[in-house]
Amino acid sequence: MQDAQGSKAPVQKLVDKIAGIFVPVVIGIAILALIAWRIFGGDNGLTQGLLALVTVLVIACPCALGLATPTAIMVGVGKGAEHGILIKDAESLERAYKLDSIILDKTGTITQGKPEVTAIKWKDGADISSLASILYSMESQSEHPLAEAVTRYFAEQSAAKIDIEQFESFTGKGVSGRYNGKQFHVGSRKAVVEQDIQIANELDAIAQDWLKQAATVIWFADEKEALAAIAIMDKVKENSAEAIQRLKAIGITTYMLTGDNPQTAKVVAGKVGIEHFRAETLPEDKAAFIKQLQSQGHVVAMVGDGINDSQALAQADISIAMGKGTDIAMDVAKMTLISSDLMSIPKAISLSRNTVHVIRQNLFWAFIYNVIGIPIAAGVLYPVNGFLLNPMLAGAAMALSSVSVVANSLRLKWGKM
Ligand SMILES: [Mg+2]
Repeated sequence: MQDAQGSKAPVQKLVDKIAGIFVPVVIGIAILALIAWRIFGGDNGLTQGLLALVTVLVIACPCALGLATPTAIMVGVGKGAEHGILIKDAESLERAYKLDSIILDKTGTITQGKPEVTAIKWKDGADISSLASILYSMESQSEHPLAEAVTRYFAEQSAAKIDIEQFESFTGKGVSGRYNGKQFHVGSRKAVVEQDIQIANELDAIAQDWLKQAATVIWFADEKEALAAIAIMDKVKENSAEAIQRLKAIGITTYMLTGDNPQTAKVVAGKVGIEHFRAETLPEDKAAFIKQLQSQGHVVAMVGDGINDSQALAQADISIAMGKGTDIAMDVAKMTLISSDLMSIPKAISLSRNTVHVIRQNLFWAFIYNVIGIPIAAGVLYPVNGFLLNPMLAGAAMALSSVSVVANSLRLKWGKM
């Protein structure tokens, strides 16, 4: 963060260039003022000329100009950090206000990125509590990620664990074990059907529904019939839909690119309200897609969490990583959302807009003092109404311009995000 606060925004490079012209010009004006006073100033010409020279130099001191950008960036980056948005360089903070397209990864970015049990349908009349214990105990011995989701679910329900005999795990199919002299299975529909186990229509109907919602369904059965169907899904994060609505409201087009299958992609995109999505994309497809948008003149942000997003993150104009994602994504990205909450994206954009707004105001205030102050300091009003600017007042005005710039930057800190 310290690096970011010290890094230069592109506008600062322009300011540096202006300062490079500004300084010789001011020195020129100061010397011209001295010469003019010496020639037209009569007896006191030299004294007045020297005073004018000093006053011009004092009032023109470009410290407000120098402070205009860095102070706003410092406050902006700090404000971002307070809201869980880590900004690695000033450039992305300044660029984000121009954004018009955002590409989002699906798994781990729009969704939680880990499977969770979303529903269980038990067979009618099943003895749920004792069967739940059997299912829980069997799944807790399996190392499959879907089994972990089931284990977590029952642990939260504080189901009791019991001893399963002859536990066996069949890769790609599921697990089996014995309890109280009865054989039980957990696994895919195919594995269950292969064992000549009956599936009741009501269970099958609900499982079909879940499949349409892009859930993975696993089955729990004894030796004769299916006892339960379990829906497991990578759930959409709580705020994803609202964040995408908000991005749309501020005129940003959202896209979802995922390596996942078209069916799941369609369901997730529908849930969060994204119209443009692509499924089965490879990492290089994501980067190529961004390049194509950029060639059409769009300013593009990439939001992702995984190693498969890093190429796209590097390609995008603004790169945003999830704080709960992989290290490589955070390493490549210029911004990291610590909470992994997509609501931080509209916040970051509004922070960027506010920061750029404050920088522009600052530059205006820094210049206006000079534009008005320098001719007066040189004594142009003297022939008109006899007014001469006291060098001490010039010093005060100069200080005031710096104070106004710093105060204006601090406004960002208390502004709304
Ligand atoms: Mg991902």
